[in-house]
Amino acid sequence: MCGIIGYTGKKYNAKDAIIDGLKNLEYRGYDSAGIAVVEDGKVNLYKAKGKISNLEDKIQSLNIKSETGIGHTRWATHGEPSENNAHPHKSDDGNVVAVHNGIIENYLQLKKKLLDKGYTFQSETDTEVLAQLLDYYYKGNPLEAITKVLHRVEGSYALGIMFADYPDEIYAARKDSPLIVGQSENGSFIASDVPAILKYTRTVYYMENQEVAALRRDGLRFFSVDEEEVTKTPVQIDWDAD
Ligand code: GLU
Repeated sequence: MCGIIGYTGKKYNAKDAIIDGLKNLEYRGYDSAGIAVVEDGKVNLYKAKGKISNLEDKIQSLNIKSETGIGHTRWATHGEPSENNAHPHKSDDGNVVAVHNGIIENYLQLKKKLLDKGYTFQSETDTEVLAQLLDYYYKGNPLEAITKVLHRVEGSYALGIMFADYPDEIYAARKDSPLIVGQSENGSFIASDVPAILKYTRTVYYMENQEVAALRRDGLRFFSVDEEEVTKTPVQIDWDAD
């Protein structure tokens, strides 16, 4: 197991909230870590093999300031543990960035289709196939692209997704892999589990299989895999991580 975290909001530097959240997910085990953060309207990726502290060392001097981003700790299933295979992964043109926990079982078949369409691949992961497939179906509407992909992929996934055209938003989806959404007056979060964001909010939504969440700093919306809006009730967490 491994972890996902994401934040969009004005209160915290997304880079700091994400690194902090990833550290709270370290107990799940991982071999590499990475983040995608929006800086001056552009989505930038930073990754490192090994400990989260390696990633921190790498970005320490960069003075990253960001209001939106996603992060990941990887437990390799497709491709060796390496910086190249570490998440986030992006589409060829950088339009789509994704982090993923789980396994896409039909990724070879999907990869072949994308290779035939001219896509190129930088990693050995099943996750990069997801990012490229999202780009393939993306015609300006993130929800439409995501639901089309969910109809095509087989396997398990918790997904955090960003679109360069929507730099203040994060999208999330899951199937047979854990993912929760948190909300506070200071912004919106995604995380693999509740303790990762307890410091920031106790208002949590548990996502069902194949639901999609659309996060903005000032609000949340949920959708079915058929793009119908779903009304969900948040849970107030009354326990502590200890
Ligand atoms: N299957 C993906 C990979 O090998 C995700 C692994 C994970 O759950 O961290 O990169």
